[in-house]
Amino acid sequence: RADVDETVLVVPGKTLIGGEWVGAQKRAVFPVFDPATGDVVGSAPDMGAAETEIAIDAASSALESWRRTSPRDRSRRLRQWHDSIVERREELARLMTLECGKPLAEARGEVDYGASFVEWFAEEGPRCVGSVDASCSDRRMLTTRQAVGCAGLITPWNFPLGMITRKAGAALAAGCTVVVKPAEDTPLTALALAKLAEGALPPGALNVVTAARANAPAVGEVLCASPVVRALSFTGSTEVGKRLYAQCAGTVKKLGLELGGNAPFVVLDDADLDLAVECAMASKFRYSGQTCVCADRFLVHDAVFDDFEDRLLRAIRKLEIGRGLDDGVTLGPLINQRAADRVRSLIPDDAAVFDKHAAAARALGPTFVAPALVRVDLDLDHPPPCWDNENFGPVVPLARFRGDDDAVIEIANRHATGLAAYVVAGDLRRAWRIAERLETGMCGVNQGIISTATMPFGGVKESGIGREGGIGFGISEYLEDKYLCFGNL
Ligand code: ADP
Repeated sequence: RADVDETVLVVPGKTLIGGEWVGAQKRAVFPVFDPATGDVVGSAPDMGAAETEIAIDAASSALESWRRTSPRDRSRRLRQWHDSIVERREELARLMTLECGKPLAEARGEVDYGASFVEWFAEEGPRCVGSVDASCSDRRMLTTRQAVGCAGLITPWNFPLGMITRKAGAALAAGCTVVVKPAEDTPLTALALAKLAEGALPPGALNVVTAARANAPAVGEVLCASPVVRALSFTGSTEVGKRLYAQCAGTVKKLGLELGGNAPFVVLDDADLDLAVECAMASKFRYSGQTCVCADRFLVHDAVFDDFEDRLLRAIRKLEIGRGLDDGVTLGPLINQRAADRVRSLIPDDAAVFDKHAAAARALGPTFVAPALVRVDLDLDHPPPCWDNENFGPVVPLARFRGDDDAVIEIANRHATGLAAYVVAGDLRRAWRIAERLETGMCGVNQGIISTATMPFGGVKESGIGREGGIGFGISEYLEDKYLCFGNL
């Protein structure tokens, strides 16, 4: 049974639309499961096209007043939301672990990370001022920054709190009102966030439409087709992202896409191998490998390959598989059985797996996958599927490279995606040159965890469009710069 009474932070069977807690038509709800046990831990309204229209109307009604609220006042309200999130850190973390399975320590970290975006954008909002060009004697040319309008935000289950605040914090600070569609696996954290926002934000500023998987496309279609929704921001799979990209063409929306990656993790021959293993473990095994910036393609120089592999295996051995709520657990379940089955299918029979992990995973249940190390030979015509595809699980595809830095850059860039990359090196001049030439939106050098509110997060190539967070970047996704020209002065 559930360890947490989710009713503390959630109104059962209801979601927040237009300042009211409402259910779906015909009171339809869908169950939310604890991925560790399969137990039902709560439910959320199963909404579709009609309720999405209602939520858009609510956001639209609230827009004029919210965009005219002074940026400073919006900032204070966001700060209030931030404070209430921080105050309920423990309950939010437990609720999050309950529905997504990540170890409690990681969930606490995510509450802090998620709250930091609300705080950051509360500070960014008042600084979004325009500019004046007074260089012509008879005219003054200026720009003002205006909220783009209502925004649709579609978020994934792997950061049930952080992906919402990273988008909603920016949009609300910019003066937009929002309709959030959280992932079907993790609606409770989204609803808890809405509950905490209720006291801080005016009715209709933040609306949440929850839906079971079967209804997600209908909700998405309405958000994309609506002329009232002027910006759409999505974090999730490349497949769904491409579909939303196409669907947004009809209304030419501002679009932010944060899609999958397949991050290269390069270890050079002069790397500090203890540091390399520390970075590798942090990046690869965070949330059991279920983040879009997790290291996915390990490229290790021939000269240090055996040593690195040994040390990495020793570190992997220390991972503790179990329920995220249990003490000492560092590797929880995958989000659901579908995901776990997919990851298992990517692990070849000759992969290195420790017996203690395999036995523990079997005993715990079908959502648990033992960490596996897969040696990949890049000289073969076809690398295994776990190399070409983001594995999104505790799988370490490990390849040896020979030759100079150009060789590894070429291999790393041989992929359609480009989100994060990692380089571990002794000589920072070499690392610098490599990092600049890697075709990714972000790169960690001697660092395995890089995401922060203060820097722009996002990808290149098929990993997406736009940036979230950072100075000016994330908030600009929700602003239009309008040019005014005063002539004949
Ligand atoms: P994953 O495969 O990791 O679940 P998805 O991209 O499928 O990632 O899901 C991310 C978010 O997109 C979730 O909120 C999900 O409900 C939503 N989603 C899935 N399919 C669609 C769709 N066709 N239109 C709009 N949103 C969708």
